[in-house]
Amino acid sequence: MPELNEAAFDAFLAALRRLDYTGYAEQYPPFGSWEDFTGRQADILAAWRKSLARVREAGLFVNIPFCRSRCRFCFLPVTPIGSSGPKRERSFAQYLEALDGEAAVFSPVFKKIGMSTLYIGGGTPSLMTPAETEKFFALLRGRFNIPPGCQVVLELHPDDVTEEKLSAYRACGVNRVCIGAQSLDEGVLTKNARRQGLGRVAAAHAALKAHGISGVNIDLICGLPGQGKASFLKDLRAVMELRPDQVHLNTFINTPYTLHALTGGRAGDERAVEALRSEGFRLLAKAGYHKIDSDSMGLTTGSCNRQTADLSGRRSVLGLGPGAVSRAFGAARCLNRTDWEGYRELAAKGGLPVVKGVLCGPRDEMIYSAITRLTDDLSVNLAEFRRTHGRSFREVFAAEAAALGRAGARFSEGGLKLPRNLWGLVRRVFYRPEVIARGLANLRSARKG
Ligand code: SF4
Repeated sequence: MPELNEAAFDAFLAALRRLDYTGYAEQYPPFGSWEDFTGRQADILAAWRKSLARVREAGLFVNIPFCRSRCRFCFLPVTPIGSSGPKRERSFAQYLEALDGEAAVFSPVFKKIGMSTLYIGGGTPSLMTPAETEKFFALLRGRFNIPPGCQVVLELHPDDVTEEKLSAYRACGVNRVCIGAQSLDEGVLTKNARRQGLGRVAAAHAALKAHGISGVNIDLICGLPGQGKASFLKDLRAVMELRPDQVHLNTFINTPYTLHALTGGRAGDERAVEALRSEGFRLLAKAGYHKIDSDSMGLTTGSCNRQTADLSGRRSVLGLGPGAVSRAFGAARCLNRTDWEGYRELAAKGGLPVVKGVLCGPRDEMIYSAITRLTDDLSVNLAEFRRTHGRSFREVFAAEAAALGRAGARFSEGGLKLPRNLWGLVRRVFYRPEVIARGLANLRSARKG
């Protein structure tokens, strides 16, 4: 069992974060502890059967790996294909074929499951033409049961809005849209090589409403290269005037994969960015928005993308497409090959394009819940924990709660409450020894590579 002192554990967490782009660095089991899952199709399908027998509910996430061009701040492994022309057409034709192959492998396992949520992310899903969009949805509906009550969310670039596309979205059942605005400041957009017509965000928002899609989220990023405090707050005020259903305030993360980092650019002061983001949330609260999760606020507590809201619950999500992450509750996590060409090559062989994964059990899910709640809300609701896991938090995590108690945490009003954000300590207390050991082994092999 690896013993790490406080400083060594913090260094370990920082190194794990650098290995990752999935967001799982900070969740559980952390991405840096996952194993090579290449060729483990039988294990993956068995894990899904086990999970679905227990949860009987799932969401579907589909990642589209293409964008017009690559924004300098983006850390996702997207492939630029332009907004028109033969390369764009060929890429989507090949993508739909590969996606269908992947969906076909999972389809029999999900036969009795009605999908509760469908999230189409990217990349830029709105780069698809109306005809491609229709084919995409027909493919998914042919492989999975997507009932009328399913929340169907699509990410949209503000420049892509046309009458034909919006009609296609309505006809295909899209009932919620995320507009990726990121910034409205021409100087910031130019510095980050993002092509986005100014004024298009407001126009996109109005057009969606006119087409009856009232569930609209707008994404902004705080801490972008070249963005000062005044620029961010001006953007936020402009967005609040539109009164979208939900607003995400994400943080610029300068992972080694951004063009900004690859050309020697640095991130701003993390604390100053976090303070600015907190100011943004205060302004949203003043304007009547409610907290949805650690990154977003909504006009009502139900104004949210249900697939990513409350990740601490009994949630299973099947991820398809390059770089998609799957969560089979109580059984496994998996990551698909992230680059488009590599994904396509694996999918063409008829197998699953999964490359990384980890098998897990009920205790891992309880740890996931505890860490997520103690990070997002600085508290765990004991009744909710019991409802989700059928176990008492106090019994399962007596030693962990005592360790947090020594740092000032207290049980009160049915919950465990932290005195302040204890991000590193929470992880040090809950991470299991075998997870730390796998993480250290992965870090050693990444250094050798
Ligand atoms: S920020 Fe959005 S549009 Fe820009 S490269 Fe990344 S996914 Fe594509």
